[in-house]
Amino acid sequence: METKYIFVTGGVVSSLGKGIISSSLACLLNAHGYRVTIQKFDPYINIDPGTLNPYEHGECFVTADGHEADLDLGHYERFTNVPTSRANNVTTGRIYRNVIEKERRGDYLGKTVQIIPHITDEIKRNIRLLGETGRFDFIITEIGGTVGDIESLPFLEAVRQMRWELGSNSLCVHLTYVPFLHAAKELKTKPTQHSVKELQRLGIQPDILVLRTEHDIPDQMRDKIAQFCNVAKDSVIQSLDCPSIYEVPLMLHRQHMDEIVLRKTGETPDGEPHMKPWLDFVEKIRKAREEVTIGLVGKYVELQDAYKSINESLFQAATYCDRRLNLRYIHSEKLTEENVAEMMAGLDGVIIAPGFGSRGIEGKFVAIKWCRNHDIPTFGICLGMQCMVIEYARNVLGYSDANSTEINPSTSHNVIDMMEEQKHISNMGGTMRLGAYDCRLTPGSRVAEAYGKTEISERHRHRYEFNDSFRSEFEKSGMRCVGENPQSHLVEVVEIPGKRWMIGTQYHPEYSSTVLNPHPLFLSFMKAAIEEK
Ligand code: GLN
Repeated sequence: METKYIFVTGGVVSSLGKGIISSSLACLLNAHGYRVTIQKFDPYINIDPGTLNPYEHGECFVTADGHEADLDLGHYERFTNVPTSRANNVTTGRIYRNVIEKERRGDYLGKTVQIIPHITDEIKRNIRLLGETGRFDFIITEIGGTVGDIESLPFLEAVRQMRWELGSNSLCVHLTYVPFLHAAKELKTKPTQHSVKELQRLGIQPDILVLRTEHDIPDQMRDKIAQFCNVAKDSVIQSLDCPSIYEVPLMLHRQHMDEIVLRKTGETPDGEPHMKPWLDFVEKIRKAREEVTIGLVGKYVELQDAYKSINESLFQAATYCDRRLNLRYIHSEKLTEENVAEMMAGLDGVIIAPGFGSRGIEGKFVAIKWCRNHDIPTFGICLGMQCMVIEYARNVLGYSDANSTEINPSTSHNVIDMMEEQKHISNMGGTMRLGAYDCRLTPGSRVAEAYGKTEISERHRHRYEFNDSFRSEFEKSGMRCVGENPQSHLVEVVEIPGKRWMIGTQYHPEYSSTVLNPHPLFLSFMKAAIEEK
């Protein structure tokens, strides 16, 4: 079949869950047997989100091919089980960079380079890249931002042109918000009407409206919206708050969104989508009664999105262990020797979060020491692993000034040090050790047992590493290096075998845990946390 393009735009306000709607639609189309990928076009000027503080747009996701990406790509992978790549996330910055490089090369000799057609052509070229590989039947393109923003205009113009060129091989899903006014006890459709008008003004007629709402939208109201917005009534779909994001595909399916998309793109729906494994998972979420309490020690705890992939990996693992996840955020800046007992009371397991810089790092050492002494299952990820190594050096090896050179460049016990290859790099953007690298696990280790194999590949995002010159000292005193890169011999995993579950990984397993393929290390950690209970 010819590749079909589905564009997803958003109106009224941001944070309506375009990423979840796109992922849920992809999940349903997948379940109908189609090959689907989702890509996100972000209107900001940064080349990628790699240098952004998590307070800006939440976690930075990392693809296997080493691209620092928007966190929505994490949802795409979790919902579809299909890996994404550099091509799945493009920003205004990248579009402009490409165009300016072409201009310098002389590709446009003689011409004035302009937003239309040069920037819009470059956007269209990028939108089509994955479609041209022949690997996908449907390409879902999410346009970041909100309709009406100045920065998203070139993207919407590109969408308008592509819809014109593709005809029925494309369609537009527009997501809006229907607020409920408590004082008037009324749902209001005006913001939706305005945002559709804005889209129409740009030459785009949405085919399907998804209305984010906190209350059921009455039938007459759907009629009214359909009529005012030139959309068929059955294509006005409501997106009510769900108890879990993993119920959203089911909610859309109940309103036949998959069927409508297939019909409108000239495909014949062949019966029910194959959602059995997904339904089993959702059933487990609904049935889980007993709680498991996990503490997440980090410095971005005010913002849920900062640790999105870790949250979801924990949720998936807890669900597969028939538990309800009670995730407690513990602010590492507030943790001290004095309050640690109180702040960490009642935890079944603890995650030491990834991160950069010195803010809140001392609290992580306090947390790790507490967990080590009380034998609480502990999982350190990236900076979290590095902190486990430093804490061990300080409190077991007796090097009170042990540190990472990221935090203290002049420490004499630099148990974590900058990677050799990083020492000559001065640009900050996209220059870390990024993406998937092989790792060989020590047979018989806890971590090898968790994976059920010794050859693995995991995603990275770091500049610092375990300093190999301290390796034998650590090994002798009980912290073992049980995973290393076969080529560079970088230490990728440490564990303390004497403990119930104390493992640190230099890589980020949270990036590869999906609903249908929960990550074995998170499962193993969760089992240990439950056992202790
Ligand atoms: N800041 C550490 C490094 O660069 C850890 C990075 C991380 O946790 N992602 O090595």
